[in-house]
Amino acid sequence: MRGRRGAPAVLGPSRSGREWESVTLKEVAVLPVPRGGDPSWALVFPSDYGTAISNLGFHYVFYQLKRLGVGVERFFHSPIPNISVENRRSLQDFPVITASIAYEPDALNFLQLLDLAGIPLRRKQRETEGFPIIGAAGAFTSINPSMLLAVSDFIVLGDGEPVIPFLVNCFRDYARGGAREKLLKTMDEHPSILVPEAGEEKALDSLKNGSKGAAITPCGQSLGHGIWITPNSAFGDTLLLELQRGCMRGCPYCVLPACFSPLRQRPLEAVLQALEKCASQATFAQVGLVTPEAGDYPGLDELLDRIESLGKGVSFASLRIDNLTPRMVRSLRGSGRESLTIAPEAGTDSLRLHCGKPFTNGQILDKLEMVRREGMKKVKLYFMVGLPTETDEDVLAIAGLAGMIRKELHMGISLSVNAFVPKPLTPWGSQAFIGIRGAERKFKLLKRAIAEYLGKGFEARFSSPREAELEYRLSWAGPEAVDWMENLVEKRKRGNKNAI
Ligand code: SF4
Repeated sequence: MRGRRGAPAVLGPSRSGREWESVTLKEVAVLPVPRGGDPSWALVFPSDYGTAISNLGFHYVFYQLKRLGVGVERFFHSPIPNISVENRRSLQDFPVITASIAYEPDALNFLQLLDLAGIPLRRKQRETEGFPIIGAAGAFTSINPSMLLAVSDFIVLGDGEPVIPFLVNCFRDYARGGAREKLLKTMDEHPSILVPEAGEEKALDSLKNGSKGAAITPCGQSLGHGIWITPNSAFGDTLLLELQRGCMRGCPYCVLPACFSPLRQRPLEAVLQALEKCASQATFAQVGLVTPEAGDYPGLDELLDRIESLGKGVSFASLRIDNLTPRMVRSLRGSGRESLTIAPEAGTDSLRLHCGKPFTNGQILDKLEMVRREGMKKVKLYFMVGLPTETDEDVLAIAGLAGMIRKELHMGISLSVNAFVPKPLTPWGSQAFIGIRGAERKFKLLKRAIAEYLGKGFEARFSSPREAELEYRLSWAGPEAVDWMENLVEKRKRGNKNAI
């Protein structure tokens, strides 16, 4: 599980929002979405539309708010940053603004959106009644809520579903003439909502002493599927179908267990029912299985059979090579995939084992041989550099492994190499980050080895060391970082999109 994001873009001037018409025309809802009424609520996913609409949590929150009768409207960072999708309203017109923040750069994107709307970024500058109430939730806020303490009026920890009815009641009381102070005090009483107004130190203490913690949706109680299908999503014309939340494994670099624990597996019967209900309501090309490791889901083969019998393709969010079966590869082939994506993470067996991935280069070759036999001739491999205990030999071994795959299996290969960024609440959170220079040095070393073993035209993508540095700083930023973030928003507004 990894981030996949670039630096936040420089926002352009606002437009009329008419461009949303062509986007919404292509959205097909798999179930009736209620009209909604009050309060007016801006639901922001501060990323591009294609990424945001591929996030199942965003579907859930929107649908739940609509069912509760809320006048919720969607906002994205791009292509049109400050106009709502539904009614082309401006962000600043909403009394309630909440952001779903999945990745670190999205937090900065959100600040850019507020700035563009003329809303002060600092919570303390919005204390008078005329300003909107601003909240944040999502995976990023689960691992580092402190970054937004100086910005947000409230932060939801963990799953949104169990908290939303409470929030809606709070905002309805507020809309009926309640005071801002009373609203925040009531929210502060909730065990999964941080309210920095009551004191940033107090908020941080409540996390440390456990009086505040993540809200957890009980197993099987979420909707279980996406509500929109659109060719403009990152996965194309895809129904999102949830299998599991949380992960049974604990790879020391991965934030997923910290964001979504405990593991909750949806019963196969419920998954099949959701699939069939959606298939009877809408047309879609494929099913996107939303789960950390598809191979860990007990009913996977039966589910794949059912998906195939409906004439649909399948896509897996994540695949572990040790879990990969011929059945899974056949499903991907049948869905028209020509390439398999796996993440060995490291080039040597010992470092890979250290990363929580107990499979050897020999086992990778064996599995890929099976993949090739099943008719798939290309593989995309994800690696990280800058891992704890890593030596230069480990880095060079990445090129060695890619060379072996090409030589022995004659498969087409592409590499994606990222710098390891230690994250809060993960077992490797206290490990060192290699920094820009360290990442540049390791990338250079590996590029040279790739050119030597695999030839100059070999396809390898390296992440940006500056973006990794930004991700690292945002991951660990506390409330005091608001000066730096404000500065960054200003620099990016002036066109310096690489500012960190
Ligand atoms: S197996 Fe689970 S813990 Fe390991 S990388 Fe995947 S999602 Fe994260």
